[in-house]
Amino acid sequence: MENVIILGSGPAGLTAALYAARANLSPLVITGNELGGQIATTTEVENFPGFPNGLTGPELYEHMQKQAERFGARVEIDEVVEVDFTRRPFQLKTHSQMFEAQSVIVATGATPRKLEVPGEKEFVGRGVSYCATCDGFFFRDKEIMVVGGGDSALQEGLFLTKFGRRVRVVHRRDALRAGPALQERARRNEKMSFVWNTVVEAVEGNSAVESVQLRNVHTGQVSREPVSGLFIYIGHTPNTWLYKGQLDMDEEGYLVVDPFLHTNIPGVFAAGEVHDKHFRQAIVSAGFGCMAAMEAEKYLAGLE
Ligand code: NAP
Repeated sequence: MENVIILGSGPAGLTAALYAARANLSPLVITGNELGGQIATTTEVENFPGFPNGLTGPELYEHMQKQAERFGARVEIDEVVEVDFTRRPFQLKTHSQMFEAQSVIVATGATPRKLEVPGEKEFVGRGVSYCATCDGFFFRDKEIMVVGGGDSALQEGLFLTKFGRRVRVVHRRDALRAGPALQERARRNEKMSFVWNTVVEAVEGNSAVESVQLRNVHTGQVSREPVSGLFIYIGHTPNTWLYKGQLDMDEEGYLVVDPFLHTNIPGVFAAGEVHDKHFRQAIVSAGFGCMAAMEAEKYLAGLE
């Protein structure tokens, strides 16, 4: 039986693993499908303290995993598909194994939201992408379109200007949600431009994306624009379906926790974007991971 199982391998999960390992709990991290979480799909991380020159998302993930492993954390590449928090020890089932744990830290994060328009699903990996780091390279000298008006859309859009002939950002309003620094960089980049008050209604092509159908939300005018790469950055959905009926959630599916990150089940803690829809920063998630591990340690000491 495990002292503590951590679900998720993003900054929250791996920081929880580091702290739990240093408390001699020999934590087990079950990574989930997305190794390293969302930060591992980020091109440049420039706001994580301690790295004055910045680093890539995958590099940060690698550092965090190595640091946790150095103190005895174990990392299992697998996905939990069922949990039972009604029994003690808690039961967790992955694709291939059953685990028992005295405490659990849920750090399964959030996943990029989909546009839910015709053609989007069909062309994933063939022009539609949610990860500029992973796929930007394939669009050298091609027409790229980015959807969204937040920090992610601009940051990843700017990265994509290294590859594309031009990068057009399609936003449903005429004002950006992104912070002023990124807005300024976007304005100064001559490869970048904006298509305001517009939504993508369909993604079209044959073997790969060739065009998108756009609609101006004010005039209703519909147009078709040639595009090879469509990068979608329109927010996130928390990865909490696994805990439905067991852990309390809000109306959007984010876990509800107290200020010490306790869920409604004693011994089950949550850390990171699985409950935090406000800050959504790697450093904040890491902080939550630290808190959850400290609380888990206290909980386990209480059991003894
Ligand atoms: P976000 O801030 O929630 O922005 C999502 C954007 O997508 C918004 O502009 C929204 O439009 C648009 N949108 C939502 N649903 C849509 C739909 N169905 N169709 C078309 N457009 C849609 O998400 P994010 O950019 O991923 O950022 C998430 C968090 O991470 C934020 O807190 C951000 O500050 C942080 N972040 C920070 C950095 C950085 O510091 N460099 C980088 C990346 C992310 P509206 O504006 O009209 O709502």
